[in-house]
Amino acid sequence: MTFEDAGRGALGRIEADRTVRDLRGVVGDLSLVDVIADWDRFGPAITDVRGLPVVGAARLHAPIPHPPRDLFAVGKNYRDHVREFGRSGYDTPERSEDLPEAPVIFSKAATSVTGPGVDIDPHLGATSELDYEAELGVIIGRGGSGISRENAFAHVWGYTILNDVTARDLQRRHRQWFLAKSLDTFTPMGPWAVTADEVGDPRGLVVSASVNGEVRQQAPVSELIFDIHELISTISAGMTLRPGDILATGTPAGVGISFDPPRFLKPGDVVACAITGLGTLRNTVRAAAV
Ligand code: MG
Repeated sequence: MTFEDAGRGALGRIEADRTVRDLRGVVGDLSLVDVIADWDRFGPAITDVRGLPVVGAARLHAPIPHPPRDLFAVGKNYRDHVREFGRSGYDTPERSEDLPEAPVIFSKAATSVTGPGVDIDPHLGATSELDYEAELGVIIGRGGSGISRENAFAHVWGYTILNDVTARDLQRRHRQWFLAKSLDTFTPMGPWAVTADEVGDPRGLVVSASVNGEVRQQAPVSELIFDIHELISTISAGMTLRPGDILATGTPAGVGISFDPPRFLKPGDVVACAITGLGTLRNTVRAAAV
């Protein structure tokens, strides 16, 4: 996890009993991306943390608060979501409920990342159709290109929770999704990251989202149309993946536009995205102070 200390982000390790150890005695001021890039050295060094100081209550940042480049994201990757998105009329110009034949890959600006507990800015001057998308985030460890399906998991460092917040009116109007999904604070991430060895097989993880306590989305990762192997293989076929790259794997059915009429987020709403074993990422929709 990345926690705040004296206005800066510092790395900590959170145990199952929620004790947090300050890792700076081992990693200094390095970021999580730096540590992932040198994992052969740091991984073993932070396995036994009993001698490191315990951190008290601390405000959390996103585990990777400043990704080195934009996030990779996947659209239409759960069957029931493909159908609801097609029916909604927001998937212009196609308006299709057909399953994609190949992964739909787009990006989200690195600057859209924000932390757990931080407000989501509704950007009321830019959009009136704010929506949520709970997603499993995959964090790349060892970089590489031309990665085969079979070797894909050797390149996964770990996982986190992402909310792929989307301005549906911008998504429809501008056709490309980058703008609609990249407004400031539109990628809450966290509350921490969990290494792949702790998670094991991710297919059994259940991704869910609730708004003000009402469950809206809930599906296992095993329902992905294009699985994590396929996504890593597809992207790396012509783009070199790097340590710390983040992949948003797609969202299950139950987003705001699946309802008739749509149920968009409004100021005061609390969105909680949760994944088995990865925690809960909670953010309130609240306009930034002027
Ligand atoms: Mg999404």
